[in-house]
Amino acid sequence: MDADIIIKKIIENTGKCFEEVNRTILNKQQELSNLVSKDGAAYIVAKEMGLDLFEKTQRRLEIKNVVSGIKNLNLNARIFRIFPPKEFEYKGKKCKVANVILSDESGTIRMSLWDTQLDLLEKNKLKVGQAVEIFGAYTRDNSGIPEIRLSRRGGINILEDSDIPFGTKEEMVRTDICNIQEGKKYEVRAALVQIFNTGLIYEMCPTCKKRVKKEGSEFVCETDGKVKPEYLIVLNGVIDDGTGNVRTVLFRDDAVKVLGVDLEKIIEIGPSLLSEVKTLGKEFIFEGSLKKNKMFNKSEFVISGIKDVNVKEEANTIINSLSKK
Ligand SMILES: [Zn+2]
Repeated sequence: MDADIIIKKIIENTGKCFEEVNRTILNKQQELSNLVSKDGAAYIVAKEMGLDLFEKTQRRLEIKNVVSGIKNLNLNARIFRIFPPKEFEYKGKKCKVANVILSDESGTIRMSLWDTQLDLLEKNKLKVGQAVEIFGAYTRDNSGIPEIRLSRRGGINILEDSDIPFGTKEEMVRTDICNIQEGKKYEVRAALVQIFNTGLIYEMCPTCKKRVKKEGSEFVCETDGKVKPEYLIVLNGVIDDGTGNVRTVLFRDDAVKVLGVDLEKIIEIGPSLLSEVKTLGKEFIFEGSLKKNKMFNKSEFVISGIKDVNVKEEANTIINSLSKK
């Protein structure tokens, strides 16, 4: 970049006149014992004035444009949410995974950190709201939704000074069940209208998370012997909102909430309580996404959260949507 262009930029940005800027540059050149060219001096002056001469010609990659199958991904984003790490056993090996939700103005995306990569969270003292650069990453498909993973050379840098906005909420679209498509997160107002009489309660080993066998009044893990089991609650059913219905699967707290029965009670009574659920037909706000259940080759709305219907909020939503029309 030569001095004339830099001078022009300084004038544009500061409102100073040509003479003044030119003199400052020549003075700078002298100050540096004429060891730098006029171009070099102009560059130094511009920098001292806080001007960024090398405006990024490359636009930042937006999260909404991140697709599955990218081999070398660099992404600047803001940490939206950090989930606590989970440990489990896979093919006989102990694994640790922590999910981090990244956001920018265009949306959110999940990044899974595995095993030693979890140290990055500690080392960088990552927290919600921080702007980060993800490098050496790649994306893979997770039930139709792209997900970020780090390669061996990958890592996370903290960006101290960044204009990336903090996503105000996870990309969540309120919709009717008849409009749900795979690969997107939705919120629907619907009622559970049917419950399938499936397992409901799975006893798991608290150490290796494998299912345990019941032997008499005790639970035995193949690997860890007698254990006090953890309970996994899985509820399968159908939700309906009047525009359509969809098979759905609810886990843990979500299942407990929709059943309207305490976890202890569910464990005590067992699957037989499914025949007398009192919340059938009760409306909730379900958040989730439609995923292909490969085992049954059917699509299921996998619930990731449930809220009670807040009548006041709902009324406002309706009024707002009417006033937009
Ligand atoms: Zn075990």
